[in-house]
Amino acid sequence: MNEIKDIATPQRTKKILEKYGFTFKKSLGQNFLIDTNILRRIVESAKLMETSGVIEVGPGIGALTEQLAKKAEKVVAYEIDKRLIPILQETLSPYEHVKVINQDILKSNVKQMLDEEFKQDQDIAIVANLPYYVTTAILMKLLEEELPIRSIVVMIQKEVAERIAASPNSKDYGSLSIAAQFYAISETVFTVPRTVFVPQPNVDSAILRLTIRDKPPVSVTDKDFFFEVVRASFTQRRKTILNNLSQYFNSTLSKSEVEDILQSAKIEPKRRGESLSMEEFAILAETLYKRQNTL
Ligand code: SAM
Repeated sequence: MNEIKDIATPQRTKKILEKYGFTFKKSLGQNFLIDTNILRRIVESAKLMETSGVIEVGPGIGALTEQLAKKAEKVVAYEIDKRLIPILQETLSPYEHVKVINQDILKSNVKQMLDEEFKQDQDIAIVANLPYYVTTAILMKLLEEELPIRSIVVMIQKEVAERIAASPNSKDYGSLSIAAQFYAISETVFTVPRTVFVPQPNVDSAILRLTIRDKPPVSVTDKDFFFEVVRASFTQRRKTILNNLSQYFNSTLSKSEVEDILQSAKIEPKRRGESLSMEEFAILAETLYKRQNTL
């Protein structure tokens, strides 16, 4: 299929957009990639096999979809903007193993689609150049649904990638880092300048790879409560964990009770949330959970 001209060149993209009179919608995060090398590097980061299945979010005019189609057995792409559907029908016509679904990924039943479109136990990766305005919502949906997938490789705003992959005691570390790292091993693979998009966004981007874990690195009785404790601990980053938690739980626990709980979890009450590892948050959440449920 190498004789087919790549979609992701400035000339071909311009031609396609002009032919259909397409105008970008900023509200849908439409920044299309026009650099085939970057696309190839994204696809390489996903470590696809000939038998792999791929889910893409937001194919745009098909620039990334095409490169994925060259490597994978099947690609299913969700695109919210119905104006792009006839364009994709044309640009992706050489690739019969690509299916485009005109749906908002946030409202779609991905699990059911996986059952219907892919083989049981097939190697599945999610690969996307995500729209900036809903990056975290999309990533958290895909992680929280605990889909039977191997990895998620996404182009996102550089700052968000740094927050997701951050370690304790860094300024980027917060509840988003813990939420993502609970489900996956997170790494920033490479950064991308804004010049490889049309139109150019006003932020730089990075490729984030999330390798899904078989099971979470910590065991907690109630996952929602664990994440609640994590979020509460970061309510005001400059405050101590004691102050943040006693404010959050003030209807059920006094400040000295929270202090007592922190001490039995072996966490110095004067520490800040950003200094706690995921393991420490898990111990803290378990101690709090037991105390709350035996009152
Ligand atoms: N993949 C293309 C590329 O790399 O050139 C386009 C990427 S562009 C950053 C994001 C795409 O996601 C747009 O095509 C946009 O219409 C689509 N999109 C935005 N919100 C979406 C949603 N909630 N569900 C599915 N697609 C969405």
